[in-house]
Amino acid sequence: MTTATPVTEHLLRAMPLPAPGGDSKDGRGRVLVVAGCIGLPGAVLLAANAALRAGAGKLQIAVCREVAIPLGIAVPEALVIGLPQTEDGNIDGRSAESLRERAGCVDAVLAGPGMMEDAETQAVVAALIRGSEGGGLVLDAGALVALRADPGLTRTRVKPALITPHAGEMARLLDTDRETVEADPLAAACQASERFGTVTVMKGGRTHVVTPDGRAWCYEAGHIGLAISGSGDTLAGLMVGLLARGAAPETAALWSVHAHGEAGRRLGRRHGGIGYLAREIPGEVPAILAEVG
Ligand code: AMP
Ligand code: MG
Repeated sequence: MTTATPVTEHLLRAMPLPAPGGDSKDGRGRVLVVAGCIGLPGAVLLAANAALRAGAGKLQIAVCREVAIPLGIAVPEALVIGLPQTEDGNIDGRSAESLRERAGCVDAVLAGPGMMEDAETQAVVAALIRGSEGGGLVLDAGALVALRADPGLTRTRVKPALITPHAGEMARLLDTDRETVEADPLAAACQASERFGTVTVMKGGRTHVVTPDGRAWCYEAGHIGLAISGSGDTLAGLMVGLLARGAAPETAALWSVHAHGEAGRRLGRRHGGIGYLAREIPGEVPAILAEVG
């Protein structure tokens, strides 16, 4: 039976983040975020800001054409790519090939926050998985549809992909029910890591991180106020930012989970409990990373 090591600051200091690379924005890490749909464009904003707050140097975001301009104004730091969209407002699968090429020109890719779980997303994500081979990859939310369709897609990567399901998403990934996942989330994470060859971040009040070779960690020091819309999008953004800086997948996962949980605790103290917003999480992160590191 796998046992999970608690995530503490002491543990993180033993697996430090890479020093900020070079003195250029390219050297600090290039990120591509492919996310959102017409109904959920804000997920992109949350993930993108988190990637920058994690210290990445350069950011591209690829979204449906209709939301590209408002997003570009909301995230003035980003290069925004407006893509053809489907009638129901998702990124069109015909963009897959151009996204594959873009994925090969950055250090880390995040796909999925706010994307619909459909065949279009499946085509786009399969292309991003191929294009980002050799770099970092985070698959969250809607992007997980691609692994349900083809569990072998991420199995042979040089640097394992990170996946970040909550219990409902994990249940769909493993073709089981939510209750089964919630009864033993560590077992579910181990099963996913084995099946997909991924570093699996099984999110919840207690979060488990498991590598493909069966190492496991557990984080339970978060804050109840983090159980809000958009919270997971910021976590995925932190991970892609740290991957782009050159962190190993499990290092990026553990530091992000800690920074996200600690940000929640600080916001909770400042606001007197719950009621803070997901968009406020990333701003807490630079100080937290600096304090641990
Ligand atoms: P998502 O469901 O994708 O928005 O992700 C939710 C985020 O909030 C994850 O990082 C979870 O670990 C975190 N979270 C959810 N519920 C709790 C809770 N009760 N206490 C602390 N963190 C939580
Ligand atoms: Mg989510």
